[in-house]
Amino acid sequence: METTTVKAYGTEAATKPLHEMKIERRAATAHDVEIEILYCGICHSDLHQVKNDFGAAIYPIVPGHEIVGRVTAIGNHVTKFKVGDLAGVGCIVDTCRTCNNCKEGFEQFCEEGMTFSFNSIDKTYGGHTFGGYSESIVTDEKYVLSIPQTLDLASAAPLLCAGITVYSPLHHWKVGPGTQVGILGIGGLGHVAIKIAKAMGAFVTVFTTSQSKVDDAKRLGADDAVLSSDPEQMKKYAGKLNFILDTVSAKHDVNIYLNQLTVDGTMVLVGLPPEPLSVSAFNVVKGRRSFSGSNIGGIAETQEMVDFCAKHNITADIELIKIQDINNAYNRLEKGDVHYRFVIDMASLKD
Ligand code: NAP
Ligand code: ZN
Ligand code: ZN
Repeated sequence: METTTVKAYGTEAATKPLHEMKIERRAATAHDVEIEILYCGICHSDLHQVKNDFGAAIYPIVPGHEIVGRVTAIGNHVTKFKVGDLAGVGCIVDTCRTCNNCKEGFEQFCEEGMTFSFNSIDKTYGGHTFGGYSESIVTDEKYVLSIPQTLDLASAAPLLCAGITVYSPLHHWKVGPGTQVGILGIGGLGHVAIKIAKAMGAFVTVFTTSQSKVDDAKRLGADDAVLSSDPEQMKKYAGKLNFILDTVSAKHDVNIYLNQLTVDGTMVLVGLPPEPLSVSAFNVVKGRRSFSGSNIGGIAETQEMVDFCAKHNITADIELIKIQDINNAYNRLEKGDVHYRFVIDMASLKD
């Protein structure tokens, strides 16, 4: 197979900082789109995987799954893209395409397991996948998204993971006018969730551990903000929320939030604390409450989300960094010091 050597940033071990390295990208085959990566968001999942929080890391790791850029080459069977188009790649770069979930558009639940854009065994081409902290990526057009020109490209990058991860459950559980929504954690996912839930017409309250984010929540579009460490402020919402989206990345007590749900209310986890969480039976039995989870979204749904965000002019609030500052960004992300998504300007990889 014909390949090209490209620059990337990654690491060989959980204990080692990210640094420049070289990886191979295949030449575009018949259904492939080659994208010059212009911007790549930094999701907390990148950090979890680099640190091997889930015990699933395949080193060397080149993270990055909020990828946007310009199409530089296409295979001869490609129909959706042409050279020069803006395009994006999120978490999924391949699935079996034949199982019931794939056929229904739920590629995120592919029965054969999906191939992630990084840190996955590449069943078709061998080796393992490398993500977006790199000069370019080559992906089957089926898993490539169109990015409208009206969106600021750097701020749109986080839609490819943060955007779909929060849009999918908000949409699935029919959040809309009249829904009282709680968002836990104002990081990359949480701040985009505020904007999307507001655009869907909900009343949105955020629950944060950071006083500075309480102060900033209304600017982000929230109707109300609660400092979760203050029991007095927490009392106001006891039994009041129809839907809670939990984006918290570390272990925390979900029981106090289950108690904020109405009868038949639903709390959905999208955050991935590496340790198990405990749930008191009483907190779901009382009020027939549901405790659920959600995993990114399918490809068609991701395009639907991008188009929804373009219609409502929704992008992430970003801090644009050079790739050489990546380890500092990771340290800050680990401490919750993020306002509200780091995005790498990939032009810096040429420095
Ligand atoms: P992030 O930007 O780091 O935001 C996480 C937020 O959680 C922090 O900003 C902080 O918000 C809060 N937090 C962190 N530690 C906490 C603690 N110990 N107790 C309470 N709150 C805490 O991360 P992200 O990129 O939004 O990702 C969030 C989580 O979702 C990660 O675990 C990530 O792996 C996961 N994820 C899941 C999917 C999926 O498909 N299910 C997709 C993408 C990401 P405050 O300062 O406001 O408290
Ligand atoms: Zn992600
Ligand atoms: Zn499948």
